[in-house]
Amino acid sequence: MTAAYDPQNIFAKILRGEIPAQKVYEDDHTLTFMDVMPQGDGHTLVIPKAPARGLLDADPASLAAVAATVQRVARAVKAAFAADGLTVFQYNEPAGGQTVFHLHVHILPRFDGVALGRHTGGMADQGVLADHAARIRAALETA
Ligand code: 5GP
Repeated sequence: MTAAYDPQNIFAKILRGEIPAQKVYEDDHTLTFMDVMPQGDGHTLVIPKAPARGLLDADPASLAAVAATVQRVARAVKAAFAADGLTVFQYNEPAGGQTVFHLHVHILPRFDGVALGRHTGGMADQGVLADHAARIRAALETA
């Protein structure tokens, strides 16, 4: 049986403004921000505002809002980084690779011949993340 949603998870704290994040996009139902341990430049996370541990317990309307934001942000990420492609992924439960238990979708720009970095590797420089977030926000404005 799946564990209950824990409102003390780190993304719930970001949603409540209790810890900072390099924010990229926000609407009534979703928040997008930079991954603090990116697997590559431009690694972005989209989360629903409604509490959900993962894909399986999410409300379908919330999932639909996340999907729409993922498409919107993915287009901007690809443009901002002049990427050749994109990798989009979502993990469920520790056995599925999940480490933060608030539903989130990863968006990563990809480049021909460049391998994906390690999952939850090193912390990125906040200045670099702020610059990347600004680049994606600018691409969203012109989309
Ligand atoms: P997953 O649960 O899909 O395995 O990955 C969680 C992701 O959240 C990881 O890629 C990790 O780098 C990222 N992450 C963990 N803690 C924080 C945090 O405090 N802030 C941000 N922006 N990202 C985080």
